Amino acid sequence: MMYVTGVSYVGSNNKKRTNQHTKRHPMVYYYNESGDFCRKRIKWYEVPFFKMQIIKKKRVYCTNCEEKFTILVKKNEQPTCPQCLS
Ligand SMILES: [Zn+2]
Repeated sequence: MMYVTGVSYVGSNNKKRTNQHTKRHPMVYYYNESGDFCRKRIKWYEVPFFKMQIIKKKRVYCTNCEEKFTILVKKNEQPTCPQCLS
């Protein structure tokens, strides 16, 4: 399980050298299972896949158990109460 926090393109930071041969690599930033922050070079066609996996920290209030939670949710995903699920 990896917790993707973002995808970005990295390449040469030298703006004076904007030739077409400058390669920009998409990188994925994520936390692994043990909570370590990692980054990995990915292929361009993997970008949409990892973008789908991006998770955000959200604070939600559950009307059912009247408690606030900080949970990680994927983009376009409805946050669910961890208490009500168990
Ligand atoms: Zn709840």
